[in-house]
Amino acid sequence: MKKIGLIGGMSWESSLVYYKIINERVREISGGFHSAKCIMESVDFAEIEKLQHKGDWESLNSIMVDAAGNLENAGAELIILCTNTMHLCSVEIIKNVNLPFLHIAEATGKKIKLEKLKKVLLLGTKFTMEKDFFREILRNDFDIEVIIPNEMDREIVHKIIYKELVHGKIESSSKRTYQRIINDSIKNGAEGVILGCTEIPLLIKSRDVTIPTFDTTRIHAESAVEFALN
Ligand code: GLU
Repeated sequence: MKKIGLIGGMSWESSLVYYKIINERVREISGGFHSAKCIMESVDFAEIEKLQHKGDWESLNSIMVDAAGNLENAGAELIILCTNTMHLCSVEIIKNVNLPFLHIAEATGKKIKLEKLKKVLLLGTKFTMEKDFFREILRNDFDIEVIIPNEMDREIVHKIIYKELVHGKIESSSKRTYQRIINDSIKNGAEGVILGCTEIPLLIKSRDVTIPTFDTTRIHAESAVEFALN
């Protein structure tokens, strides 16, 4: 079994879920007393959030490259970055670290392809919805069309993530808002919805919506286990 290196803390509410899913999956596959070999480098999200909203991606790149380097030095054999948004730094991480890096959008694309869906809604932070780093992988590598909510709804989705979900607050009014936004997208042809922020699955479960959901936390964590065990 390869040792999984996780860059976490963005936020720790979802890093916790990664740790749990990874260990559950190893137990499911390997049985007995087996659990995952892994190391987590966990950052202070206050520093990250400030730099994100300042648009200082250069500093964020260097924090992420340092974190990945620490995992490499500590003996990790693959790296996963436990947040969608911070995959904006994935190019720099891949350039600077000599380990396999499992991209969250690639893992998600594979899963959507298996379900044979062609058009999906992407929910996440404004960075993830508006910048191209996530959508271009689905478009170019998997031929999947990605739609996003309108500007006002993007703002609402983003605010709920930063004001509630990363603080572990789960509000039923926010769940209803997300459901309304997902239902609007169905009218625009969405066949599935990507929960493209690792905290959204804390709020929205597959039973809450009528189209298939793609939980990026679970998909990414399970893909790391698959890689580690093969
Ligand atoms: N965990 C989130 C994501 O998947 C948002 C927090 C962050 O900005 O990293 O995008």
